[in-house]
Amino acid sequence: MTLTAQEWLKKIHELPLDRPVRIMNVCGGHERSITMAGIRSALPECVELIAGPGCPVCVCPEEDVYQAIQLALRTDMILVTFGDMLRVPVNVPKKEVRSLEQAKAAGADVRPIASPREAVRIAQQNAKRQVVFFAAGFETTTAPVAAMLLEGVPDNLSILLSARRTWPAVAMLLDSDAPGFDGLVAPGHVSTVMGPEEWNFVFEKHDIPTAVAGFQPVSLLAAMYSVLRQLLEGKRFLDNCYPELVRPGGNRAAQAQLAEALNDTDANWRGIGVIPSSGFSLQKRFAKNDARLQFPDFDTENRKRAGQMPPGCECASVVLGRINPNQCKIYGHACTPKTPVGPCMVSDEGACRIWWAAGVRE
Ligand code: SF4
Repeated sequence: MTLTAQEWLKKIHELPLDRPVRIMNVCGGHERSITMAGIRSALPECVELIAGPGCPVCVCPEEDVYQAIQLALRTDMILVTFGDMLRVPVNVPKKEVRSLEQAKAAGADVRPIASPREAVRIAQQNAKRQVVFFAAGFETTTAPVAAMLLEGVPDNLSILLSARRTWPAVAMLLDSDAPGFDGLVAPGHVSTVMGPEEWNFVFEKHDIPTAVAGFQPVSLLAAMYSVLRQLLEGKRFLDNCYPELVRPGGNRAAQAQLAEALNDTDANWRGIGVIPSSGFSLQKRFAKNDARLQFPDFDTENRKRAGQMPPGCECASVVLGRINPNQCKIYGHACTPKTPVGPCMVSDEGACRIWWAAGVRE
């Protein structure tokens, strides 16, 4: 029997909840659906929904964005990237170029793309120029990058890879002294590729109920109901509330491509720090297409010391679910979509941007 969103809400309200419960999501698409559909305010008062690390652009290390800007400013270069990246700011004095958008305005050849195939096409059409594909994303966006590498890419195309795996960030939170949530709505898209089993550790190791959800309010509410019911009944398991697309084992072909083209690596998350095995790097055989090896004249260590977040920006706390977007002191003041200070106000998947778009003004 398929229930409507209203019916799921009714079932949630009928649960005998007698204490505050915090449920985290780790997907920008989930956060957007939750916020735009007004799910927060429709739930019982004791249920709090928290946006966790669900935005790859927001956690892309400052030094990577800076490197992309410096590469874009080279006269022989075309820099291509997904559109969200263009406005992400870095910490530089006001007179310097602080985003790819500003680099473009200063004359750099920066082009937004929607897929890795576009990067290949641009490289083929500009065989005499160097093209760098600045690729930030989670597993779902990274699998096509791996496929692109395996299919073969032009010599003049290199990848500045800033890809991240989702579950290690949740594992890091759960291993900390204060995880800050009682239940998890696991990301549907990532589970489609990597398999829902990746999230078993949440209930097996940490005794936290978990349910995979899709992007529709119906699926999200079903997952929330499952998590709340598990809590009430003392049961723990991984519920799949997105069975239309999430299948046991995930997409084995995409997983094989990821394993064949990329290595797991420790990776820096902007404002958070290094999380073990949370990133991807190109395998050695793709060295000629690895921008980090092809353009090594870049002082990453100095950049790290320059600071991860602009002064006053609390994106790291927002990404970790420690505060809500509107609890950042400069939300809606110095920081708005027109004048973004931190990455969470730039990306369509950033919690601050989503809350602002939904009309939250204070
Ligand atoms: Fe960062 Fe702006 Fe959000 Fe504050 S309001 S956390 S500065 S994006």
